[in-house]
Amino acid sequence: MALVTLKQLVDDAFQNGYAVGAFNVANMEIIQGALKAAEENRSPLILAVAEAHLGLLDLDVYAPIIIREAERASVPVAVHLDHGQTFGTFVKALRCGFTSVMFDGSTLPFEENVAKTKEIVRLASAVGVSVEAELGHVTGGEGDPSQGVADPTLFTDPEKAQRFVRETGIDALAVAIGNVHGIYRGKPELDIPRLARIRELTGVPLVLHGGSGLSDDDFRRAIANGIAKVNVYTDISQAAMAKIRTAHGLPPNADFSRFMAEVVETIKEAVAEKMRIFGSVGKAK
Ligand SMILES: [Zn+2]
Repeated sequence: MALVTLKQLVDDAFQNGYAVGAFNVANMEIIQGALKAAEENRSPLILAVAEAHLGLLDLDVYAPIIIREAERASVPVAVHLDHGQTFGTFVKALRCGFTSVMFDGSTLPFEENVAKTKEIVRLASAVGVSVEAELGHVTGGEGDPSQGVADPTLFTDPEKAQRFVRETGIDALAVAIGNVHGIYRGKPELDIPRLARIRELTGVPLVLHGGSGLSDDDFRRAIANGIAKVNVYTDISQAAMAKIRTAHGLPPNADFSRFMAEVVETIKEAVAEKMRIFGSVGKAK
């Protein structure tokens, strides 16, 4: 059994100066690809399901598959809820056997973020599940008007981070230090002195969201200053789409999730066509 908690993974990473990648799972192919990479490279792995992706991935169905894959992997794997926001989703993730959850109260006022995070820590720690929370706000992602530019007024405040970690008892803290979700516009500028100060004051493993588009040097400096988990989705989904595009001559704007949705739709139509031919339509009792 190689299913482990996030705390087990990030504590070791934090102490030994490396980071564990958390890859967002939006379909079976990402699960398979990420696990193969982890096993072939003898690397720990975090498989993350974002609450925003639950429309693509029904937890009742996919959670048992992800958990089972993690259990039988030959390397340690944590199964993590990314950017959890609703109480129902946390309960569901815990019931499904996730070993880690992230509560994202980063757009809430400080006191409210503390109170809600504490509630999730209480719930999760009762069943041995790790908790990550965010202070400051990492912009970007679907529907966000920031368009790939970090907002320094939303960067994590080191003193507040110290209080936040002490009061909530979280296992890992997601920080905003110039990182953004999705695609960066212009050259990313990480505020490394701020990160170093946050590490000094909190002492907990830190998490870098928006890991797509940063340079090797950005990662090296971030990891040397307390980053123990890096979230990646855009880079791997774009890599997949770039490969499919060149191999099959698709237009440059072809999008991975739309492509995968089209695969499902096309299979549906092709299977339905056979069902009509075979006369089995309407015969389900
Ligand atoms: Zn994120």
